[in-house]
Amino acid sequence: MNLDLPGPQAVRKLAPGKLVIASHNEGKVREIRALLESHGIEPVSAKQLDLPEPVENGTTFFANAEIKARSAADLSGLPALADDSGLCVDALGGDPGVLTADWAQTPTGRDWNLAMRKVEDALAAKGPEAGRDAHFVCVLALAWPDGHVEWFEGRAEGSLTWPPRGTVGFGYDPVFVPAGDTRTYAELEPAEKHAVSHRADAFRQLVAGVF
Ligand code: IMP
Repeated sequence: MNLDLPGPQAVRKLAPGKLVIASHNEGKVREIRALLESHGIEPVSAKQLDLPEPVENGTTFFANAEIKARSAADLSGLPALADDSGLCVDALGGDPGVLTADWAQTPTGRDWNLAMRKVEDALAAKGPEAGRDAHFVCVLALAWPDGHVEWFEGRAEGSLTWPPRGTVGFGYDPVFVPAGDTRTYAELEPAEKHAVSHRADAFRQLVAGVF
């Protein structure tokens, strides 16, 4: 028997104190602050520290989350938490996936109505038989200035509806109906979304591991 096999890696604990939220997306920062509230953490956003947005050229949610967390940890000298997330539509082979934010890009900024319309048009092009199942993925990367990184992956199953409904939330919230509900993410109160969302799922794992 080989007794040198590595056991499960222990998750590094996060000490109370400042934590950079490595995102320039106000919707995400708001949700992450709420999810961290009760853990003795003092969240500081990348925007408050005037940190630049790194180029997200990874091909996976894991890679892009690490790029953002590592860049903020290196530049600030503080632990940093990044979220890379996206919408994956089964009938579109998982698209828009890691390109979820890019589908909203216009020469003058991001347009979420346009992005939701693009997804709907892509589904329509697949024909009436195309299913509307979709899921959101959220990968959280927590990076320390000494180079250590931990990742946590969350997921929320659901389906797409059209036309968009609701005014709460951000991004693709108005077209995503989480499994077990009839309302879109944008029709849920923030606390209701936090109970079922992909981000909350990833946070449950982070909290269980690092606190
Ligand atoms: P990124 O992680 O910065 O590459 O961007 C992911 C994009 O996915 C966001 O800009 C949103 O449009 C979308 N997204 C991620 N999470 C959510 C969510 O909870 N609701 C709606 N859209 C989301």
